[in-house]
Amino acid sequence: MKIYDVIIIGGGPSGLMASIAAAEHGASVLLVDKGNKLGRKLAISGGGRCNVTNRMEIQELIAHIPGNGRFMHSPFSVFNNENIIQFFEGLGISLKEEDRGRMFPVNDKATTVVETLLNRVRELGVQIQTNTAVKTINYTEEAVSEVVLQNGGRLPTHTVIVATGGKSVPHTGSTGDGYPWAEKAGHTITELYPTEVPITSNETFIRNKTLQGLSLRDIELTVFNPKGKKIKKHDGDMIFTHFGISGPAALRCSQYVVKAMMKFKTSTIKMEIDLFPRVSDEALFQQLLAKVKAEPKKSIKNLLKGFATERILLFIYDKLSVDTQAQASTVSHDTLRAIVTICKHFEIEVNGTLSIEKAFVTGGGISIKEIEPKTMHSRKKKGLYFCGEVLDIHGYTGGYNITVAFSTGYTAGKSAAEQVVHK
Ligand SMILES: Cc1cc2nc3c(=O)[nH]c(=O)nc-3n(C[C@H](O)[C@H](O)[C@H](O)COP(=O)(O)OP(=O)(O)OC[C@H]3O[C@@H](n4cnc5c(N)ncnc54)[C@H](O)[C@@H]3O)c2cc1C
Repeated sequence: MKIYDVIIIGGGPSGLMASIAAAEHGASVLLVDKGNKLGRKLAISGGGRCNVTNRMEIQELIAHIPGNGRFMHSPFSVFNNENIIQFFEGLGISLKEEDRGRMFPVNDKATTVVETLLNRVRELGVQIQTNTAVKTINYTEEAVSEVVLQNGGRLPTHTVIVATGGKSVPHTGSTGDGYPWAEKAGHTITELYPTEVPITSNETFIRNKTLQGLSLRDIELTVFNPKGKKIKKHDGDMIFTHFGISGPAALRCSQYVVKAMMKFKTSTIKMEIDLFPRVSDEALFQQLLAKVKAEPKKSIKNLLKGFATERILLFIYDKLSVDTQAQASTVSHDTLRAIVTICKHFEIEVNGTLSIEKAFVTGGGISIKEIEPKTMHSRKKKGLYFCGEVLDIHGYTGGYNITVAFSTGYTAGKSAAEQVVHK
């Protein structure tokens, strides 16, 4: 039986990049994955277009990785977003930059990204075994000794890179298998939770589906702690769903909802939507007043047409019991101010999120305190490396998680190969 220098478990973006880096640095590499295809999650990421990375300054990039982003300084010093861009462009994939620095393949096809990675893996002579589920890793007192397969097979080795991903969207193969192997080696797994996940609410207007399907553009969404202090604010788009809220701004806020519920041991959290984030409450009131003064005889409903989305306005009129046919001039200033208050501080009490399985990303994972950031080597067992979402690192959607996967994958692959080849 051939003994490989490096065995990589998991063929997502982190494992594929680790395979490439290890092979490029002279190691013989075996890549095993339990699925029948590699890169299944990558192929559906970024809405099927694959948001390969994000073109931002490193400091800003790290600020968009709220789950232990500072750890990424070291892996980024080895392989960063610009290296990812050069890597793909060097292999003939042109990339384009979209809003917020998001980089996509010009042809908008995630499968092109996956195919390019696979071609490079094959070109470098990496041995690939799909439909090969790993059951566990065995260790001696100090080091890795073998990989044990579900089918009973045993693969002796001194070097393993675990790239098994998190627990989200399990049909792509990410079912949290790597955590017990890490625990067995003495690692700590921090609490796992869903991030980048739609938020749920039991508000009557959600249960009644009053606003279901309504998209709001360029709003600001804020999460409050139980004492009424702002925890986090995100701008962007969102949508009301049949269970709560979703869309980019809601996804970015979701981890703060989860963390606040855990921290304050509470079952509900207050959020607020600001429909006019660039205008103050007073300025908005003055805008309404000016409209009323300009056309006092118009009904309030007709006067405010186009001022905000009609469904929101109807919701507000209903909530405030405003007679929509009333002449604008008869509507009191207090009522106008109340309309402004809802537009600027639309309250929604939320009570959680969808499950970790339905989340885009898994929060928590293998504690980064036990990983050497320059090499991704375990501080617990010799020859053991980790990369990608299995670690306690998570970013917002927008290419940040994929960037983490590529960067930590490359760093792990390179270090593992250098350690083996120079032995
Ligand atoms: C729908 C969707 C959209 C997303 N969009 C974005 C986005 O726009 N931007 C962004 O930054 N991130 C996005 N993400 C997140 C991003 O795709 C992941 O963070 C990334 O794929 C993690 O890479 P990974 O290599 O760590 O793990 P994964 O991609 O999860 O790969 C893990 C691999 O390990 C294999 N494996 C697991 N257990 C075993 C075992 N026991 N034996 C053998 N093999 C095993 C699995 O089969 C799988 O192939 C999205 C995720 C989803 C689900």
